[in-house]
Amino acid sequence: MNCKQATKLISDSKERKLNLQEKVSLKTHLIICPYCRSFQKNCNKMTQLMKQFTE
Ligand SMILES: [Zn+2]
Repeated sequence: MNCKQATKLISDSKERKLNLQEKVSLKTHLIICPYCRSFQKNCNKMTQLMKQFTE
């Protein structure tokens, strides 16, 4: 998995459930890639913010 695929999976995971294989490969990528780790962090923050706005 490269960063492009990983970031896509991270955004996808906000809209649908990832399957086991996707989860595993994403997790493996996040362990070795600090860039995607911070992308995921920001993504989670955004999701939380959006939630606060809609509630
Ligand atoms: Zn990456």
